[in-house]
Amino acid sequence: MLDADFFRRWMAATAAAVDREADQLTELDSAIGDADHGSNLQRGFTAVAAVVEKDAPATPGAVLTLAGRQLISTVGGASGPLYGTLLRRTGKALGEDAEVTQEQLAQAFAAGVAAVGQLGGAQAGDKTMLDALLPAAEALALSFRGAADAARAGAEATVPLLARKGRASYLGERSIGHQDPGATSAALLVEALAGTAQ
Ligand code: ADP
Ligand code: MG
Ligand code: MG
Repeated sequence: MLDADFFRRWMAATAAAVDREADQLTELDSAIGDADHGSNLQRGFTAVAAVVEKDAPATPGAVLTLAGRQLISTVGGASGPLYGTLLRRTGKALGEDAEVTQEQLAQAFAAGVAAVGQLGGAQAGDKTMLDALLPAAEALALSFRGAADAARAGAEATVPLLARKGRASYLGERSIGHQDPGATSAALLVEALAGTAQ
């Protein structure tokens, strides 16, 4: 069973991973965006890790809804509302149980990913964070490690794609040949989850 502490540790691990990879994320965003993805997420997840530590919400659902709200209010770029919606909706779907199963998390995460699709209007293959999140959500029902691997493979598979949403889509064909920054950070989020579950 996964308790609130597990979800706080997931957020702390994500903040650490984003810190470590911030330069790399910004570099990817400089190729097909505006070179701020690393700093956007660094600011966002640093604030998330701090607030879930300080407020220490009692349930998994409350940890993720607080994290999502914090991201939305801290990150101005596209990724703030999108990741904020992912976490908030996942948290809402987890309800008020003090502990949840991996299967409950997998279902809730799938609802969160669907909400990202609704908010941003992107689909699989549009070269966005969804290209990592969708395969991760599917694999999460079976294993944490499988979800992390699926997310990473999904992020790497964005390289040859043409961007159809977000800033990268302004580049048209010139977006081809670069890995999507948001798919790359989504893989970090899921990798942090798998690391926390170990
Ligand atoms: P901004 O583009 O506002 O500078 P970021 O650089 O922080 O924001 O985030 C860019 C990432 O957000 C992209 O790499 C992509 O993965 C994701 N993204 C942008 N628009 C969408 C969308 N409509 N749906 C899903 N993801 C999106
Ligand atoms: Mg950007
Ligand atoms: Mg920006």
